[in-house]
Amino acid sequence: GDRWSLKGQTALVTGGSRGIGHVIVEELLELGASVHTCSRNKVELDAALIAWEAKGYKVNGSVCDVSDRSQRENLMETVSTAFDGMLNILVNNAGVLLYKPTVDCSAEDFSTLMGINVEAAFHLSQLAHPLLKTSGMGSIVFISSIAGVVAHQGLSIYGATKGAINHLTKNLACEWAKDNIRSNSVAPWYIRTSMVDDFLDNKEHMEKAYGRTPMRRIGEPREISSLVAFLCFPAASYITGQVICVDGGLTANGFF
Ligand code: NDP
Repeated sequence: GDRWSLKGQTALVTGGSRGIGHVIVEELLELGASVHTCSRNKVELDAALIAWEAKGYKVNGSVCDVSDRSQRENLMETVSTAFDGMLNILVNNAGVLLYKPTVDCSAEDFSTLMGINVEAAFHLSQLAHPLLKTSGMGSIVFISSIAGVVAHQGLSIYGATKGAINHLTKNLACEWAKDNIRSNSVAPWYIRTSMVDDFLDNKEHMEKAYGRTPMRRIGEPREISSLVAFLCFPAASYITGQVICVDGGLTANGFF
């Protein structure tokens, strides 16, 4: 096949109704993949699907709360039926943010974040394994965060969930290499989406963020989806078990 194309590949992207996931769906479609996506809000999901279908893309979607085990099982059944039991790409993108000092975090905060950001991604990877294996060429991409690589105020639980994902990336890469399934993690710094809307309006907070970022700007969703697509290309066939930061230089910065 074409080294720089996703033609003929099938993909599941969680959380594709808006933000980074939305742009990932679009990028994979533009590169020739057939895509299934999901979110909790049906209205927003359907609006996205209608816009893509109008462009002639091969895309489908279903409502799924990935924090629910049986909904995850239903989702993978839908995907398996749609793609004849074969899946090339799983993008574990759906995630939630919690910005709180550790002393204020509740038991529920912890279990909610672990449930969506870690357990859902783990279980969906488990469920996708037979489909990824059957396809003959599988690629899992986790959307992590630089908060899982370096410490950030207010993000102790969130950072722990992303750190867990970064490690899971390595385990799956080693365990499933024999099945020709690669596993990589993309770790963004600030990206302009609804998740961080509130922060973008906070001048003091953003000045601090820019001050730490060598490129002195935040990123755009398209700057994440390009790497996700690349990791799924046949051209990336020897890349597995990696955590790649897309961060304007943040994690490289010592004292600039
Ligand atoms: P958004 O909040 O803009 O979008 C999140 C998407 O995920 C929506 O489609 C949302 O739909 C869906 N989603 C959330 N929870 C669930 C759920 N339980 N079940 C199904 N779908 C769900 O966030 P971003 O696009 O910014 O974030 C995407 C990923 O990128 C996350 O994993 C996040 O941690 C990560 N990230 C984001 C950064 C940023 O600065 N924006 C930086 C680093 C990492 P709905 O609510 O309808 O379910």
